[in-house]
Amino acid sequence: MVVQSLYKPLQIPNLDLWQVLFERKDKQFPEDKEIYIDPDTKRSYTWTQTRNAALEFGKGLKSQWGFKKGDVLGFFSPNSIDYSPVFFGVLWAGGACSTANPTYTVKELAFQMQDSKVTGIVTQMPMLPAVLEAAKIIGLPEDRIILLGDERDPAGKFKHFTEIRSTRSSLLPSLQRPRLDPRKDTSFLVYSSGTTGLPKGVVLTHRNIVANLIQLEHCELRNGLHHTGPPDGHGDKQIAVLPFFHVYGLTCIALQSIYMGIPVVVLPKFDLDKFCGAIQDHGVTYASIPPPVVLALAKHPAVAKYDLSSLKWMNSGAAPLGRDLVDQVWRRLTIPVMQGYGLSETAPVLTKMNIADWARCNGSCGKLLPNLEAKVVDVDSGRDLGPGEGEGELWFKGPNVFPGYLNRPELAKDTFSDDGFFKTGDIGYVDVKGNFYITDRLKELIKYKGFQVAPAELEGLLLGHDEVADACVVPAHDHGRETEVPRAYLVLKPDVPRTEAKAAEIAAWLDGKVAGHKRLRGGVRFVDEIPKNASGKLLRRVLKEVARKEDARA
Ligand code: AMP
Repeated sequence: MVVQSLYKPLQIPNLDLWQVLFERKDKQFPEDKEIYIDPDTKRSYTWTQTRNAALEFGKGLKSQWGFKKGDVLGFFSPNSIDYSPVFFGVLWAGGACSTANPTYTVKELAFQMQDSKVTGIVTQMPMLPAVLEAAKIIGLPEDRIILLGDERDPAGKFKHFTEIRSTRSSLLPSLQRPRLDPRKDTSFLVYSSGTTGLPKGVVLTHRNIVANLIQLEHCELRNGLHHTGPPDGHGDKQIAVLPFFHVYGLTCIALQSIYMGIPVVVLPKFDLDKFCGAIQDHGVTYASIPPPVVLALAKHPAVAKYDLSSLKWMNSGAAPLGRDLVDQVWRRLTIPVMQGYGLSETAPVLTKMNIADWARCNGSCGKLLPNLEAKVVDVDSGRDLGPGEGEGELWFKGPNVFPGYLNRPELAKDTFSDDGFFKTGDIGYVDVKGNFYITDRLKELIKYKGFQVAPAELEGLLLGHDEVADACVVPAHDHGRETEVPRAYLVLKPDVPRTEAKAAEIAAWLDGKVAGHKRLRGGVRFVDEIPKNASGKLLRRVLKEVARKEDARA
């Protein structure tokens, strides 16, 4: 049985993102409205300034680099208000943005930049050494590295993005916008390990993102979000601590703010005092955050120093959130936390809680967004389960669902069903009122504070250790920090001592090879063998269950 969205279908125009954001006739907010705000430097961009800076940059890319439709620019930077003119300049020029986590190691960065075939990388001064090394590995010329943010290159070698501008007449045909097909052309490439294996490029078309902006807008307007009115006559205001390189921060904050005319206070990273201080000083009215930030708001003593009463509600997504924490935040701050659910592959939001349902839906991540249909598929029998009939794998179909992984057509048959549903690899159920609940994960993925950790990637590295004979990495739970953490089960080579010191040594060895969020915070356990089926396939679920029992005992 197919579960239909309870919202009436919305019209998704056949327009690309640039057209929707900057050429729309029905825009409801003034063009000189400040949209992106840097609370430290007080620098900001209005809608018009964003558009103009993007146009300059887009034309500069074309005239200085010969940037063409389909070319890709890589991003390796913490949040900055400059992200937006650079994003939109690339989109204007018909290109796509490949956004990487700025804590990646050189190898991790080089992998993504090579895989997405970038023609340049935009970064900030502190990350320049890593980008230079990665550029060398992939053979990218140094003059294709550019900067954003406040700090310029004192030696003047690396250009700031504002220096990439057209020196020729804009009337030249080569400086006109290319024609795009919103259903086919890529706007963003984000990386996800999907249900198995190593990270892969998730191709998000213009239509995928345009659809999710429209679907989200519809729900948020019903929740009371507005671009005019109280508290200061300028309407609602949000805050960005979620990184723009991840699809959640990208669509729900960086793009939604300029689409809906909602100002956003942009923080480079999460720092509890800065976060609370900015909410208080800027009168922030809502925030999209991951579960560990909900935890801090529920429990951290520093929160009491700030007046957070401007906040009307918060959205949480990207990882599971326990109902207890939602209740604790409500008791402490009287602010509802509403859960949503989605994936990189769905641009990202699939379900979202309404304020009207908030008090009643225990632990739900809300109802299907407009224009979406879902199936709950029994994992053993393959039968579709209706609302209230139990849990199964969640499948979705709709305009925000991606077309496939970059250059991996062979994955299509496992990613999509014969009738075109995307198989998420998440386990959950839907109740008779249409509320969705996520209960488990069929796929390999581990989520550390909302960031992806691909077990296969860590296992591959661990197998390269001289003393490791076999390895399996599964999620463990860190209850204190309200997050999953990767735990490694290892078979050591003969005569290698199974000591705590050895476990710590191997974990430290791995730490040096991966970005911070992939570290083995769940520890290392030694076992005699890794469970496998007759054909040698890892039985990850067995060790996942072992980890669950170990954590329950702890
Ligand atoms: P990503 O592609 O990094 O956004 O990761 C998507 C995955 O995060 C989903 O497939 C889920 O496993 C997990 N996830 C996202 N939102 C939730 C949620 N509200 N509850 C539980 N898991 C979630």
